[in-house]
Amino acid sequence: MAAWYLAGSLVQLRGQINGMFPNRSKASDGSIGDAAHSARESDHTPTDTGQVCAIDVTHDPAGPDGWWLATTLAAKRDPRLKYVISRDQFWDPQNGWQPYPRVNPGRTNKHDHHTHVSVWAGRIGDDAAPWDLGVSAGEGDGWLMGAKEDLTAEIRAMREQVSNKIDNSNVEQRRQIDQINQRLAAIEKKVGA
Ligand SMILES: [Zn+2]
Repeated sequence: MAAWYLAGSLVQLRGQINGMFPNRSKASDGSIGDAAHSARESDHTPTDTGQVCAIDVTHDPAGPDGWWLATTLAAKRDPRLKYVISRDQFWDPQNGWQPYPRVNPGRTNKHDHHTHVSVWAGRIGDDAAPWDLGVSAGEGDGWLMGAKEDLTAEIRAMREQVSNKIDNSNVEQRRQIDQINQRLAAIEKKVGA
């Protein structure tokens, strides 16, 4: 077999995940595909230049949670990301999340044991800039949903507090409140509220 290498962006991603979860299970990890895997997920097959553009990262209940990894990557919309698969759900930047069977009716792997990450081939796939994996330590989507609800409620409460105190005749105060509201809107956007 010709020489192959894992795309630089995926070396970087795997390194970050290993750094965040030093004791993670690697039981279902993978990069270059065996013959059967290659037939299903061609990104595990080296390109003409030997670049392998996909990794499988083991779902580990102790972290990283596979669904956390998939949803975090999808939410950040890194331009290097081609698609992710987890829990029989498929995400790509064009169509967002959809059931994996709709994308690949012949799929035999539900991706319950690993999250599949594909990057675009070529120079972009070798871009080894750090990935934005957020601040949460991969405690799963339950934790993420809870955190999002908490933040959303907090933002709503802050908005109410602020609007109760508006003195429309005070130009400087209104300017400051507008600034606060803009920052709140930016935070909302960041957490996807
Ligand atoms: Zn895979």
